[in-house]
Amino acid sequence: MDGKEQFAEQLNVLYRISNVLSSGMDLDKILENILNETVDLFAADAGSVMLLENGSLRICKAAKLSDDIVKNTRIPLGHGIAGTVASTGESVLLNGKVDSSQFSDVVERVESISSSMCSAMSYNGKVVGVLTIRRADTTFTEEQFEFFKSVAAQAAVALEMADLYRHEHERLERTNAEKRHMLSIFSHMADGVLVFDDSFEISFANELAQRMLHAWGPLEGQDVRMFFPSVPWKFIVEGAKNNEVSKEIDLLPVLSHGEEQWRGLLTSWTDEGVLVHVLVMHDVTERIRVERMKTEFLSSVSHELKTPLTSIIGFLELLMEREMKRERQMRCLSICRDESGRLLRLIEDVLMVAKLENGSFRVSKSHNMIDVLLSEAVSNFAERYPSYTFSYSGDCDKVGVDYDEVLINQVVTNLLSNAVKYTPNEGRIAVRLMIRNGAVVVSVTDNGVGIPQEKLPFIFEKFYRVDNSLTRQTGGVGLGLANSRHIVEAHGGSIWAESEEGKGSTFFFALPYELKN
Ligand code: ADP
Repeated sequence: MDGKEQFAEQLNVLYRISNVLSSGMDLDKILENILNETVDLFAADAGSVMLLENGSLRICKAAKLSDDIVKNTRIPLGHGIAGTVASTGESVLLNGKVDSSQFSDVVERVESISSSMCSAMSYNGKVVGVLTIRRADTTFTEEQFEFFKSVAAQAAVALEMADLYRHEHERLERTNAEKRHMLSIFSHMADGVLVFDDSFEISFANELAQRMLHAWGPLEGQDVRMFFPSVPWKFIVEGAKNNEVSKEIDLLPVLSHGEEQWRGLLTSWTDEGVLVHVLVMHDVTERIRVERMKTEFLSSVSHELKTPLTSIIGFLELLMEREMKRERQMRCLSICRDESGRLLRLIEDVLMVAKLENGSFRVSKSHNMIDVLLSEAVSNFAERYPSYTFSYSGDCDKVGVDYDEVLINQVVTNLLSNAVKYTPNEGRIAVRLMIRNGAVVVSVTDNGVGIPQEKLPFIFEKFYRVDNSLTRQTGGVGLGLANSRHIVEAHGGSIWAESEEGKGSTFFFALPYELKN
């Protein structure tokens, strides 16, 4: 190689060393490149590159050193050649045998060394590491030493750049992670979110908004007004411009056929001169339905309280004002008793809902004979409703079960009164007690109006009433079965119904039963 070629090659190496980071390599690869390029360029037999970490040098890449030494050696500042160069920042060229105690070997070597060069890699006056190479037989020249120092300086620049690159990369990763986190929060929000600009074009929509609006394609790019044509958008957005932030608006989605009702919270702000609108949409259909149900409930409870009371007062006045035969008196009084019973059940049902809602519902179990409870309930009903035929049958007698007597009595009474209520006069009502797979199962069968199959899944819901002529006639608030379900489930049991419209229904409830010898 002549002088010109050598100079070109040297420049080339410098360029390659300083350019390693543009390839986005990791630190390990950069160090390996620096060492390989330097060893090749200076025709060295070995070399190493070390980085300054917590006050000592760590060998990061080395040629001709065992993995163990590379991994575990830490060279304190001021010790050996490298430690001295790192602490003084002065590069050294050592030819021939080195006797100076200052340069005693820190790292054990097997091969002989005739010449070595060691230079600090510093950037902006700060030492980041040390680059060292050596030859076994020949020596390095002063000229080579000068160039070696430039290589070390260039390597320091490359390392610094790589460090900057890594920091920037990590910062970007963090920003991207934060962005992903924000998007995931938006995506999983329990409200639909739409972001749009002043021209009403949607720039972001979360998953729920997509589902709520039944949008097939992406919402981004579409006009928000299309989805809510009844909203006076111009007026609302004008308000936002005049700094009226966070506005509540009623939203009637175009695809809901008036069945769904949403509330929207529109927040607007200016971001780098552009007005941004964020619309958070919440489906309030259910809330409005519950509110409507509450109002209906109040009016039906008032009605249900008033009707029996009116007839009780009417009959009592009749009894007070008129002389009548004992038989007629008894008829009036039994009507008063039945109406009072209806009032009592209604009040019990309402109280139960209150207890369930305020958390004061308690079950206090004791060991009782359920067959006794059932046969007594059947006798009471038979006496009260003589036009019906009641029957009771049980798999066995003296069936002792742990239950709350008041509450289970309420369930049985509720099922029997429903059987009466939803069976036209002269119906047959049968109560059975069965023992099945570790449970006592009670069934109440009537031959009344029955329940359509599609309505069966709802009858245990609060306030639910099947709409038929009998429910309209008989009155009721739709709480009995819902409360019965709570009571039975609180006992660890279950309740269900089978029915055929026009033929009758059977209600079952099961309670855990332990056969005691
Ligand atoms: P309520 O009787 O006050 O309406 P319930 O919760 O006791 O409330 O019953 C809910 C609905 O289930 C009733 O409105 C009725 O439509 C239906 N249902 C309950 N029991 C029977 C039955 N034995 N036969 C037919 N329908 C019934």
